[in-house]
Amino acid sequence: MSNKVHLGHTARKRFGQNFLNDQNIIDNIVAAINPKVEDHIVEIGPGLGALTEPVAAKIDNMSVVELDRDLVQRLESHPVLKDKLTIHQGDALQFDFSTLAQEGQRLKVFGNLPYNISTPLMFHLFEQADIIENMHFMLQKEVVLRLCARPNTKAYGRLSVMAQYYCKMIPVIEVGPQCFVPPPKVDSAVIRLEPYRELPHPALDIKQLQHVVTQAFSMRRKTVRNSLKGVLSVEEMEELGVNATYRAEQVSLKQFVDIANYITNRSKK
Ligand code: SAM
Repeated sequence: MSNKVHLGHTARKRFGQNFLNDQNIIDNIVAAINPKVEDHIVEIGPGLGALTEPVAAKIDNMSVVELDRDLVQRLESHPVLKDKLTIHQGDALQFDFSTLAQEGQRLKVFGNLPYNISTPLMFHLFEQADIIENMHFMLQKEVVLRLCARPNTKAYGRLSVMAQYYCKMIPVIEVGPQCFVPPPKVDSAVIRLEPYRELPHPALDIKQLQHVVTQAFSMRRKTVRNSLKGVLSVEEMEELGVNATYRAEQVSLKQFVDIANYITNRSKK
């Protein structure tokens, strides 16, 4: 299939442009977002407006962040959208979402994300999770499986632990490559992420948690006795109820937080 889609825009691979082209999937995503007039809705990568148009139809205004200047120009001259959108041209990875959040109001963020930046972008948003009500993202299906993965599974890793630290995960719908123009080489899926108002397992120092999780999973085949050598002794692990012969994929979020908090407290002594 040609990658020249609607109105002659040529999809740019470097911007991860795969445009949604399936009304049934679009309807499902919009129903999951469930836009309300009082919501402050933000879309990342509106592209040619496949999701923007039906969402904007239900509300008075919304914000969008789009990197591609040609697409921004199109949105600026779109007969319906131009009056409803506040358009931020730029890189969502650098965008300070807190500038959009009005006092007491949380953002509803969504996007069919460019897959090449989806993981760093989610980490960027997790840092601002306290101003976000929920997020709906189209991602590579494999990434959705990692986000939802429980311990003792292959998909469980750094992304699962850190994402589940901040958010509750709700898978929404699977989406095949044929639903996009041009079709991506991978399967996709939509997920809803709901940041916790109160973290179930709060870390005293989030950097310490990130450090421990990254180090443990950088050697995921090794036991934590080995991967966390120099960070925590076997005696300290046992004190925390973490079996030193576990591999990283057997350690729960709570146990990672216990380890990180133990190290934080120990460094204060
Ligand atoms: N929302 C449209 C749809 O569903 O058809 C387009 C989705 S396409 C997968 C990803 C969109 O994100 C494109 O419009 C692309 O230009 C935009 N994009 C790519 N990198 C971006 C970035 N770093 N910041 C903001 N938008 C970006």
